[in-house]
Amino acid sequence: MAGNLTFSMIKPDATAKGYTGKILDRFIGAGFGIRAMKWTRMNRDEAERFYGVHKGKPFFDDLVAFMTSGNIVAIVLQKDNAVADYRQLIGATFDPAQGTVRHQFAESTQCNAVHGSDSDENALIECSFFFAQKDFLS
Ligand code: ADP
Ligand code: MG
Repeated sequence: MAGNLTFSMIKPDATAKGYTGKILDRFIGAGFGIRAMKWTRMNRDEAERFYGVHKGKPFFDDLVAFMTSGNIVAIVLQKDNAVADYRQLIGATFDPAQGTVRHQFAESTQCNAVHGSDSDENALIECSFFFAQKDFLS
């Protein structure tokens, strides 16, 4: 994938409020292509595995409850420099800057509308969590 794919998720707060289309518009407007996409939801086991790196942190149980509370959209996005450009587009975990997707759509640090991979290595792991490699690698 050579650094041009990243994994995005539209989280349950944003799907419930009807922000899915507006958020996809932000991604496409920023030059990302949609390589694979799925409207689905996670069960407890899946959410605990997806966020396994955060197990033991004070926010972990609430995060799993939140992420299993409704529908999500799992998306493989493609663009040069995808991981870094997408993280810039969505904004920081805390106090996302004006103009970012999280600044526009997040309601709190936890319910922050969108997920984004933090490295090329994790992007491949996260894309593979929701999709077969034939769906996004060619
Ligand atoms: P990011 O999603 O920006 O990569 P992290 O990987 O650190 O952030 O955390 C994963 C998710 O856990 C965040 O997107 C957010 O939903 C939640 N989270 C992280 N830190 C906190 C916190 N201090 N309080 C509540 N929720 C948090
Ligand atoms: Mg993260």
